[in-house]
Amino acid sequence: MTDPAAPLRLILDSEALVSNWRALARMSGRAACGAAVKANGYGLGATGVAQRLAAAGCRDFFVASWGEAAELAGQGLSVTVLHGVRDEDMAIAPHGPARPMLNSADQVRRWREGGGGRCDVMVDTGMNRLGVAPAEIAAGLLDGLEIEVLASHLASADEPDSPLNVAQCAEFTALRGRTSAKRMSLANSAGIALGADYAFDLTRPGISLYGGIAAEAHRGAIRPVVTPQAQVLQRRRVPAGGIVGYNGTFVVPRDMDVAVLNIGYADGYLRCFSSKGMARVDGVDVPVIGRISMDLTAIAVDALPGLGEGDWVSLDYDLPATSALSGLSQYELLTGLGRRFDRVWD
Ligand SMILES: *Cc1c(COP(=O)(O)O)cnc(C)c1O
Repeated sequence: MTDPAAPLRLILDSEALVSNWRALARMSGRAACGAAVKANGYGLGATGVAQRLAAAGCRDFFVASWGEAAELAGQGLSVTVLHGVRDEDMAIAPHGPARPMLNSADQVRRWREGGGGRCDVMVDTGMNRLGVAPAEIAAGLLDGLEIEVLASHLASADEPDSPLNVAQCAEFTALRGRTSAKRMSLANSAGIALGADYAFDLTRPGISLYGGIAAEAHRGAIRPVVTPQAQVLQRRRVPAGGIVGYNGTFVVPRDMDVAVLNIGYADGYLRCFSSKGMARVDGVDVPVIGRISMDLTAIAVDALPGLGEGDWVSLDYDLPATSALSGLSQYELLTGLGRRFDRVWD
């Protein structure tokens, strides 16, 4: 017996995903365009994302941990583990196809002592998050290491006027030819919009693949990929003056039909949507009314006389607009979509 389908699902648009990757690949110019699929493909499902992008020609995938790399094993993909290697990882890391992104002198030493092999290296050009220092490279830290990709990460790529971008790009450019690296990589999604100087040999977009708008220049080129849908659990008639939901924040102005949906803030459909969200069925938009509950959401459905128990409703999840409404980043909005959804590619 298979489990019944969940009463809520994420509809994932394969064509939009591939179209976004192609757009980012074009904007990357002569550089190859990879894909960040960490955090389970930003919540969409890493395997489904990687399969589709690999079929479209994407060759470089980035995850955070060895567990995430294992989930992608067997597909013949080139996978880099961004967090590098801990002692605990050394039993498996040198023997699989994935490469670590080495982030510190300790990780470099650990990798060498464990037999080494091909690896990537992160260099810190000013973000002070992960990476070896350019001075350590100058002092010979990486000598003799077999490096595939030398990478750095931009702290403020989504602020195109930040002087940090220029400074980090200059620091990174100065490392050209200073290591054995076959390729260099700097730009994430927003970094791709900063121009050809930032593309180097390989770009590493994440959020823009999944429909996030990381840069004004991407508007128009990047299509939404994720649509949450929920099933109607119950339809009811509420008389004028009745309340809907916790604390009676919505009072119905006249007799009104209300549908209660199988989705709530525990699924990442957040309380910011209380009396503000929009739902859609067959091109008809209807409003969310009252508070979002943990597992339930009410919508006003007089405009949808045929809608009943078991029918599916799409919820508006425009990432930039929802980010403005919620105060959360587009990244949090995607990765916060919970475990109860079926992920359905169309
Ligand atoms: C997550 C990540 C990316 C992708 O960033 P986006 O802003 O989602 O495009 C690229 N590089 C590194 C090192 C990352 O951690």
